[in-house]
Amino acid sequence: MVRGMTRILAVANQKGGVAKTTTVASLGAALADLDASVLVVDLDPQGCLTFSLGHNPDELEASVHDVLLGDEEIADVLLDTDDNVTLLPATIDLAGAEALLLMRPGREYALKRALAEVAEDFDVILIDCPPSLGVLTLNGLTAAEQVIVPLQCETLAHRGVGQLMRTVTEVQQITNPQLQLLGAVATLFDARTTHSRDVLSDVADRYGLPVLEPPIPRTVRFAEASASGTSVMRGRKNKGATAYRGLAENLWKHWDAGEPVRTSDLS
Ligand code: ADP
Ligand code: MG
Repeated sequence: MVRGMTRILAVANQKGGVAKTTTVASLGAALADLDASVLVVDLDPQGCLTFSLGHNPDELEASVHDVLLGDEEIADVLLDTDDNVTLLPATIDLAGAEALLLMRPGREYALKRALAEVAEDFDVILIDCPPSLGVLTLNGLTAAEQVIVPLQCETLAHRGVGQLMRTVTEVQQITNPQLQLLGAVATLFDARTTHSRDVLSDVADRYGLPVLEPPIPRTVRFAEASASGTSVMRGRKNKGATAYRGLAENLWKHWDAGEPVRTSDLS
């Protein structure tokens, strides 16, 4: 990876439960295994990413909340994790940040400004957006260079995608003309039926959204991992971890060697 070039990728979908947080945690660990220095940012007041990386949000003194409001230096709030990635943690305080930020000019740029102070220490920054299209997600999309959209491959997966596409377009028009919509990531994918594939091809067609390779299969290991506060990437080999390694390699080649991302042929 070319040093001094920091890739900033937001993972966004206002729908909850589509594996945004799992994708950030797993992709972060897989990129770290490829020797990238990785920062992951928890933008969800629920703090699920923070918890899944081994830190209890209830016990933290400072978080991304204080950074966004300018009360803490970002460098003072970063935490190490067992997964070899650095974490900008969230706590429930962040639930109040929406309202506090709304009163400030330049509120969409708070994360971008903070990340600029530490970006040179990292090859990749992954941003875990919350399940809404409010000011926190706007901060994530404004700070990012690219965005990926996890899509759970079930009926009605497309609901809300149009709204997300409009938000991305508005961010491109107003706060971040550079923002590139890289594509969707198929999550909770069931390769045994054609249903997952049909849903995916429907959404991809409808919104002209490429689907990145590979799809991430549904595996019971993920639920176990998020409940215990340890990453799915550690320990036993499993289909999910292998898929996220594949996705990390796909993105890495794109960033490092300038190759187009590999996408699924759904026709
Ligand atoms: P989001 O951040 O979009 O709300 P999460 O990453 O928290 O979604 O995932 C929602 C739930 O789905 C979690 O319980 C998580 O463990 C589970 N999950 C995520 N990916 C998978 C997968 N590939 N297989 C099985 N369960 C998964
Ligand atoms: Mg989440």
